[in-house]
Amino acid sequence: MIITDDHMHLYNHLRLKALEQFKETGGTHVFLVSLLCHHYDVRPNSGKDFAEVFDRHLSLVEKANRIVKAYAVLSVHPAEITVIGGRVGFERAAEIMKEALDLAGKYVEEGKAVAIKSGRPHYPVNRQVWKLSNEVLMHAFEVAKDVGCVVQLHTERYSKEGMVEIAEMADSVGLKRERVVKHFSPPRVREFEEIGIFPSVLAGNDNVLKAAEQGDRFMVETDYIDDKKRPGAVLGPKTVPKKIKELLENGYDEDFVYKICAENVAKVYGVEL
Ligand SMILES: [Zn+2]
Repeated sequence: MIITDDHMHLYNHLRLKALEQFKETGGTHVFLVSLLCHHYDVRPNSGKDFAEVFDRHLSLVEKANRIVKAYAVLSVHPAEITVIGGRVGFERAAEIMKEALDLAGKYVEEGKAVAIKSGRPHYPVNRQVWKLSNEVLMHAFEVAKDVGCVVQLHTERYSKEGMVEIAEMADSVGLKRERVVKHFSPPRVREFEEIGIFPSVLAGNDNVLKAAEQGDRFMVETDYIDDKKRPGAVLGPKTVPKKIKELLENGYDEDFVYKICAENVAKVYGVEL
Protein backbone atom coordinates (compact mmCIF):
# COMPACT_ATOMS: atom_id res chain seq x y z
CA MET A 1 0.00 0.00 0.00
CA ILE A 2 1.23 3.46 -0.92
CA ILE A 3 1.24 5.96 1.98
CA THR A 4 2.42 9.47 1.14
CA ASP A 5 3.31 12.39 3.41
CA ASP A 6 2.93 15.47 1.23
CA HIS A 7 5.00 17.90 3.30
CA MET A 8 7.83 17.08 5.68
CA HIS A 9 11.19 18.63 6.61
CA LEU A 10 14.39 17.01 7.81
CA TYR A 11 16.62 19.28 9.84
CA ASN A 12 18.62 18.80 13.02
CA HIS A 13 16.74 16.30 15.19
CA LEU A 14 16.04 12.80 13.86
CA ARG A 15 17.15 13.55 10.28
CA LEU A 16 16.96 10.31 8.25
CA LYS A 17 15.81 8.38 11.33
CA ALA A 18 12.50 10.22 10.99
CA LEU A 19 12.06 8.49 7.64
CA GLU A 20 12.98 5.12 9.16
CA GLN A 21 10.12 5.68 11.62
CA PHE A 22 7.84 6.74 8.77
CA LYS A 23 8.76 3.58 6.87
CA GLU A 24 8.41 1.25 9.89
CA THR A 25 4.84 2.43 10.36
CA GLY A 26 3.98 1.91 6.68
CA GLY A 27 5.05 5.16 4.96
CA THR A 28 6.34 4.76 1.41
CA HIS A 29 6.51 8.19 -0.27
CA VAL A 30 7.41 11.63 1.03
CA PHE A 31 7.74 15.20 -0.22
CA LEU A 32 10.70 16.82 1.54
CA VAL A 33 10.65 20.60 1.68
CA SER A 34 13.72 22.78 2.20
CA LEU A 35 13.73 25.20 5.14
CA LEU A 36 14.62 28.88 5.48
CA CYS A 37 18.19 29.96 4.66
CA HIS A 38 19.09 30.60 8.28
CA HIS A 39 18.52 26.89 9.03
CA TYR A 40 21.54 26.28 6.79
CA ASP A 41 23.51 29.25 8.16
CA VAL A 42 23.16 30.96 4.79
CA ARG A 43 22.60 34.73 4.68
CA PRO A 44 21.69 35.40 1.07
CA ASN A 45 22.65 38.62 -0.68
CA SER A 46 21.37 37.41 -4.02
CA GLY A 47 19.08 34.71 -5.36
CA LYS A 48 22.13 32.69 -6.36
CA ASP A 49 23.02 32.29 -2.69
CA PHE A 50 20.02 29.97 -2.41
CA ALA A 51 21.98 27.43 -4.46
CA GLU A 52 23.78 26.26 -1.33
CA VAL A 53 20.45 25.72 0.44
CA PHE A 54 18.94 23.88 -2.53
CA ASP A 55 22.03 21.74 -3.12
CA ARG A 56 22.22 20.68 0.51
CA HIS A 57 18.54 19.86 0.46
CA LEU A 58 18.89 17.82 -2.72
CA SER A 59 21.76 15.81 -1.28
CA LEU A 60 19.59 15.04 1.74
CA VAL A 61 16.73 13.98 -0.53
CA GLU A 62 19.13 11.70 -2.37
CA LYS A 63 19.99 9.96 0.91
CA ALA A 64 16.32 9.85 1.85
CA ASN A 65 15.66 7.93 -1.34
CA ARG A 66 17.59 4.98 0.01
CA ILE A 67 14.86 4.63 2.67
CA VAL A 68 11.59 5.60 0.96
CA LYS A 69 10.68 7.30 -2.30
CA ALA A 70 11.42 10.98 -1.64
CA TYR A 71 10.69 14.00 -3.81
CA ALA A 72 12.32 17.40 -3.41
CA VAL A 73 10.36 20.60 -2.97
CA LEU A 74 12.46 23.78 -3.10
CA SER A 75 11.18 26.48 -0.83
CA VAL A 76 11.57 30.22 -0.83
CA HIS A 77 9.74 30.61 2.44
CA PRO A 78 7.48 33.68 2.66
CA ALA A 79 9.01 34.59 6.03
CA GLU A 80 12.31 35.23 4.21
CA ILE A 81 10.94 38.67 3.41
CA THR A 82 11.20 39.50 7.12
CA VAL A 83 14.48 37.69 7.77
CA ILE A 84 16.34 38.89 4.68
CA GLY A 85 14.49 42.21 4.61
CA GLY A 86 15.69 42.99 8.12
CA ARG A 87 19.20 42.98 6.73
CA VAL A 88 18.93 44.38 3.19
CA GLY A 89 15.52 46.09 3.11
CA PHE A 90 12.20 44.61 2.02
CA GLU A 91 12.34 45.70 -1.63
CA ARG A 92 15.71 44.04 -2.11
CA ALA A 93 14.59 40.99 -0.14
CA ALA A 94 11.66 40.56 -2.54
CA GLU A 95 14.05 40.77 -5.52
CA ILE A 96 16.32 38.16 -3.96
CA MET A 97 13.33 35.88 -3.36
CA LYS A 98 12.21 36.22 -6.98
CA GLU A 99 15.72 35.36 -8.19
CA ALA A 100 15.74 32.38 -5.84
CA LEU A 101 12.43 31.21 -7.33
CA ASP A 102 13.95 31.45 -10.81
CA LEU A 103 16.80 29.27 -9.59
CA ALA A 104 14.34 26.80 -8.03
CA GLY A 105 12.56 26.69 -11.40
CA LYS A 106 15.84 25.78 -13.12
CA TYR A 107 16.36 22.90 -10.70
CA VAL A 108 12.85 21.68 -11.51
CA GLU A 109 13.59 21.89 -15.24
CA GLU A 110 16.71 19.81 -14.65
CA GLY A 111 14.56 17.19 -12.94
CA LYS A 112 16.16 17.68 -9.54
CA ALA A 113 12.97 18.82 -7.80
CA VAL A 114 9.26 18.37 -8.45
CA ALA A 115 7.80 21.54 -6.95
CA ILE A 116 8.56 24.95 -5.50
CA LYS A 117 7.16 26.51 -2.36
CA SER A 118 6.06 30.10 -1.94
CA GLY A 119 3.22 32.03 -0.33
CA ARG A 120 2.77 34.95 1.97
CA PRO A 121 3.46 35.54 5.67
CA HIS A 122 1.34 33.72 8.26
CA TYR A 123 1.90 36.57 10.78
CA PRO A 124 0.80 40.22 10.61
CA VAL A 125 2.96 42.43 8.36
CA ASN A 126 2.69 46.01 7.15
CA ARG A 127 1.12 46.93 3.83
CA GLN A 128 4.43 47.24 2.01
CA VAL A 129 5.57 43.76 3.05
CA TRP A 130 2.15 42.30 2.19
CA LYS A 131 2.25 43.88 -1.26
CA LEU A 132 5.81 42.68 -1.90
CA SER A 133 4.91 39.19 -0.68
CA ASN A 134 2.06 39.04 -3.17
CA GLU A 135 4.45 40.07 -5.93
CA VAL A 136 6.83 37.29 -4.92
CA LEU A 137 3.97 34.78 -4.89
CA MET A 138 2.86 35.95 -8.32
CA HIS A 139 6.41 35.41 -9.54
CA ALA A 140 6.35 31.88 -8.11
CA PHE A 141 3.20 31.21 -10.13
CA GLU A 142 4.91 32.49 -13.29
CA VAL A 143 7.89 30.23 -12.69
CA ALA A 144 5.63 27.24 -12.04
CA LYS A 145 3.65 27.95 -15.19
CA ASP A 146 6.88 28.20 -17.23
CA VAL A 147 8.51 25.03 -15.98
CA GLY A 148 5.27 23.09 -15.46
CA CYS A 149 5.37 22.36 -11.75
CA VAL A 150 3.32 22.67 -8.60
CA VAL A 151 3.53 25.55 -6.13
CA GLN A 152 3.12 24.46 -2.54
CA LEU A 153 1.53 27.34 -0.68
CA HIS A 154 2.42 28.58 2.77
CA THR A 155 -0.08 31.27 3.72
CA GLU A 156 -1.89 33.24 6.36
CA ARG A 157 -4.59 31.44 8.38
CA TYR A 158 -7.06 29.79 6.01
CA SER A 159 -10.02 31.77 4.77
CA LYS A 160 -12.11 31.10 1.69
CA GLU A 161 -11.67 34.71 0.53
CA GLY A 162 -7.90 34.46 0.87
CA MET A 163 -7.83 31.22 -1.12
CA VAL A 164 -10.04 32.63 -3.86
CA GLU A 165 -7.78 35.66 -4.10
CA ILE A 166 -4.74 33.40 -4.50
CA ALA A 167 -6.57 31.20 -7.03
CA GLU A 168 -7.29 34.29 -9.12
CA MET A 169 -3.61 35.24 -8.98
CA ALA A 170 -2.78 31.81 -10.42
CA ASP A 171 -5.43 32.32 -13.13
CA SER A 172 -3.88 35.62 -14.14
CA VAL A 173 -0.64 33.92 -15.19
CA GLY A 174 -2.34 30.84 -16.62
CA LEU A 175 -1.31 28.41 -13.90
CA LYS A 176 -3.98 25.79 -13.27
CA ARG A 177 -5.56 26.11 -9.85
CA GLU A 178 -5.09 22.39 -9.27
CA ARG A 179 -1.33 22.88 -9.49
CA VAL A 180 -1.46 25.11 -6.44
CA VAL A 181 -1.31 22.94 -3.33
CA LYS A 182 -2.32 24.50 -0.03
CA HIS A 183 0.06 23.14 2.56
CA PHE A 184 -1.34 23.02 6.16
CA SER A 185 -4.93 22.77 4.93
CA PRO A 186 -7.95 22.38 7.16
CA PRO A 187 -10.16 19.40 6.18
CA ARG A 188 -12.52 21.53 4.05
CA VAL A 189 -12.37 19.26 1.04
CA ARG A 190 -15.61 20.47 -0.53
CA GLU A 191 -14.68 24.11 -0.23
CA PHE A 192 -11.30 23.46 -1.85
CA GLU A 193 -13.05 21.57 -4.64
CA GLU A 194 -15.17 24.66 -5.33
CA ILE A 195 -12.13 26.93 -5.30
CA GLY A 196 -9.93 24.56 -7.31
CA ILE A 197 -6.79 24.79 -5.20
CA PHE A 198 -5.66 21.34 -4.05
CA PRO A 199 -5.61 20.77 -0.27
CA SER A 200 -2.79 19.04 1.58
CA VAL A 201 -4.56 18.34 4.85
CA LEU A 202 -2.59 18.53 8.09
CA ALA A 203 -3.12 15.05 9.57
CA GLY A 204 -3.64 16.13 13.20
CA ASN A 205 -6.62 15.23 15.45
CA ASP A 206 -9.38 13.73 13.32
CA ASN A 207 -8.70 15.91 10.28
CA VAL A 208 -8.12 12.99 7.91
CA LEU A 209 -11.44 11.38 8.86
CA LYS A 210 -13.19 14.73 8.57
CA ALA A 211 -11.64 15.30 5.16
CA ALA A 212 -12.64 11.81 4.01
CA GLU A 213 -16.26 12.48 4.96
CA GLN A 214 -16.25 15.22 2.33
CA GLY A 215 -14.64 13.28 -0.52
CA ASP A 216 -11.32 12.05 -1.81
CA ARG A 217 -9.88 15.18 -3.41
CA PHE A 218 -7.07 15.80 -0.93
CA MET A 219 -3.59 14.74 0.15
CA VAL A 220 -2.19 14.45 3.69
CA GLU A 221 0.87 15.78 5.49
CA THR A 222 2.54 16.17 8.88
CA ASP A 223 4.65 19.31 8.33
CA TYR A 224 7.16 17.50 10.55
CA ILE A 225 9.86 20.12 11.16
CA ASP A 226 12.56 17.91 12.73
CA ASP A 227 13.72 20.67 15.04
CA LYS A 228 15.53 19.72 18.27
CA LYS A 229 13.81 22.60 20.01
CA ARG A 230 10.36 21.37 18.99
CA PRO A 231 10.87 17.59 18.62
CA GLY A 232 7.29 16.54 17.78
CA ALA A 233 6.24 19.60 15.78
CA VAL A 234 4.14 20.06 13.82
CA LEU A 235 3.20 16.35 13.83
CA GLY A 236 5.56 13.39 14.25
CA PRO A 237 6.80 11.38 11.23
CA LYS A 238 4.58 8.36 12.05
CA THR A 239 1.37 10.38 11.96
CA VAL A 240 0.31 9.95 8.33
CA PRO A 241 0.65 6.12 8.32
CA LYS A 242 -1.25 6.03 11.64
CA LYS A 243 -4.06 8.20 10.34
CA ILE A 244 -4.32 6.16 7.14
CA LYS A 245 -4.74 3.04 9.27
CA GLU A 246 -7.51 4.84 11.14
CA LEU A 247 -9.25 5.45 7.84
CA LEU A 248 -9.14 1.72 7.06
CA GLU A 249 -10.48 0.89 10.53
CA ASN A 250 -13.32 3.30 9.90
CA GLY A 251 -14.51 1.49 6.80
CA TYR A 252 -12.62 3.27 4.04
CA ASP A 253 -11.06 0.76 1.65
CA GLU A 254 -7.62 0.51 0.09
CA ASP A 255 -8.93 2.07 -3.12
CA PHE A 256 -9.75 5.19 -1.15
CA VAL A 257 -6.25 5.29 0.31
CA TYR A 258 -4.80 4.71 -3.16
CA LYS A 259 -6.77 7.70 -4.41
CA ILE A 260 -5.50 10.18 -1.79
CA CYS A 261 -1.95 8.84 -1.43
CA ALA A 262 -1.15 7.82 -5.01
CA GLU A 263 -3.59 8.94 -7.69
CA ASN A 264 -4.00 12.48 -6.41
CA VAL A 265 -0.27 12.85 -5.87
CA ALA A 266 0.59 11.53 -9.33
CA LYS A 267 -1.97 13.74 -11.02
CA VAL A 268 -1.28 16.96 -9.13
CA TYR A 269 2.54 16.79 -9.20
CA GLY A 270 2.89 14.90 -12.46
CA VAL A 271 5.12 12.28 -10.85
CA GLU A 272 5.15 8.50 -11.06
CA LEU A 273 4.87 6.63 -7.80
ZN1 LIG B 1 6.59 23.13 6.49
